[in-house]
Amino acid sequence: MSETARRLPASASEPLDLPERFSDVIEDLHVLRLPMVTRFRGITEREVAVFAGPAGWAEFSPFVEYDTAEASRWLRAALEFSGLTPPLTGGRSGAAQNSGTEAAGGTEAAPASSSQARTVTETVDVNGTLPACPPSEVETILARYGHVGTVKAKVAERGIDSLDDDLARLREFRRLFPDTTLRLDANAGYGPDDALTACEEFAAFDLQYFEQPVPGVEQLAELRRELERRDLPIVLAADESIRKAEDPLRVAELGAAEVIIVKVQPLGGIGPALDVITASGLPAVVSSALESSVGLAAGAELAARLPRTDSSRDLLGERVACGLGTARLFTTDLVDDEDALKPVDGAIPVRRITPDPDRVQSLAVDPGRFEWWVKRFEDCWAHLRSANRFS
Ligand SMILES: [Mg+2]
Repeated sequence: MSETARRLPASASEPLDLPERFSDVIEDLHVLRLPMVTRFRGITEREVAVFAGPAGWAEFSPFVEYDTAEASRWLRAALEFSGLTPPLTGGRSGAAQNSGTEAAGGTEAAPASSSQARTVTETVDVNGTLPACPPSEVETILARYGHVGTVKAKVAERGIDSLDDDLARLREFRRLFPDTTLRLDANAGYGPDDALTACEEFAAFDLQYFEQPVPGVEQLAELRRELERRDLPIVLAADESIRKAEDPLRVAELGAAEVIIVKVQPLGGIGPALDVITASGLPAVVSSALESSVGLAAGAELAARLPRTDSSRDLLGERVACGLGTARLFTTDLVDDEDALKPVDGAIPVRRITPDPDRVQSLAVDPGRFEWWVKRFEDCWAHLRSANRFS
């Protein structure tokens, strides 16, 4: 057994005590199709399944190409948030998941899927996003976000060929917003040598961190060593390298990044995510997996509970701006605009979302697609009940 496997928190992998069929406990499963404002991650529509449990509504929305083993982690997360499985936070010991640290929201941490989940008007900060665009559009694009303290600029859309355009855009950004916290995200768009070339240039922009300049944990680790050797003050963050619970531990073991980007569904829920963040010892930023507001609510809950360690404060500040402002990427959501978890002045509320029944009807997929999702749900359900699903 590898070191990683020994350290993996049990909450991410234990079999779940579930009835034989999901229809025994879930009366209404809805599968909905959300049109996107622009193509993102290669898709123009996002299919999401939602259902209600004792704690409220939850979303199950693995991307359609994911296999059963991978999609099952997303179901584990949805079951936890709905309250259909016990809170997975902090294992079975009942101990607080953040012992020795304080939750980011500054309030006491309720169980992740408790029916008394917070209804107060607590908020978590989110970053604005600056896509590839001409410098002349920077001001207009960011004006849509209102006042935001942190902006993430996408770079490397065409790899190193974008560098001149990226630099022109970042210079304009810094001219307009000299004090705004800036992150970069290359979505693994560079090769190792090009990443170094780009980092030499980007170092002048006072970055909070640089997300995934290169693909893969090993390449990230190599890049980080080279940045240190060259004395380049760039903090690396791992995003695409983290798809499942053991990945943050591998990032930590290899010293591949100083910050991890985490998403609730791929890590199997709020509890398992907190466990793995704690086990990795790395400061974390919560990001969405392109969910509707129902799913974003779980991300906001995790963001409010992030461990606040000294290294998190040093690298990310007192209030960690998360990548949860993605509701705006859809043309329509499961609730009215005013109830959706759309950012206002760089923050979203931490609260549960109940879908609007009319929207649930009008956004429903056709019967054939619904059957496909029911089969997927059944397969993942069976997988989570099985003791051998990771073998
Ligand atoms: Mg990213």
